[in-house]
Amino acid sequence: MMDYRPGTTIYGSTPSWLDCLRRGFCRRCPRCGEGRLFSGYLSVPESCGRCRLAFDPIRADDAPAYFTIFLVGHVVVPGLLMMEQWYAPPTWVQLSIWLPATLILTLGLLPYIKGAVMAAIWSSKATG
Ligand SMILES: [Zn+2]
Repeated sequence: MMDYRPGTTIYGSTPSWLDCLRRGFCRRCPRCGEGRLFSGYLSVPESCGRCRLAFDPIRADDAPAYFTIFLVGHVVVPGLLMMEQWYAPPTWVQLSIWLPATLILTLGLLPYIKGAVMAAIWSSKATG
């Protein structure tokens, strides 16, 4: 009989919090590390295709967006300020660099951070 409790693998052992985080960041199931965590860009399937871990109770809500904004803001704002301080380029140059950078970083990081947040939630047994 498979063990479906949060924080356990299909083999009954408990993956470490760091292993779960790594699996989630790679957008893989936090329990088995093989099933896909997303069926689309950010769409979460009902369960893991490999170990049948139910993903429905793992609700990340707005946390991935907060963490993504936090990280992207700590890259973009210092970059913009340093460029202004060192080169003082025209505003259109700043905007043409930092607006696309913000968009690309945000959309690029969001699925990875959502996967890591979901894995951390599952690993800490904070589901439901
Ligand atoms: Zn799985």
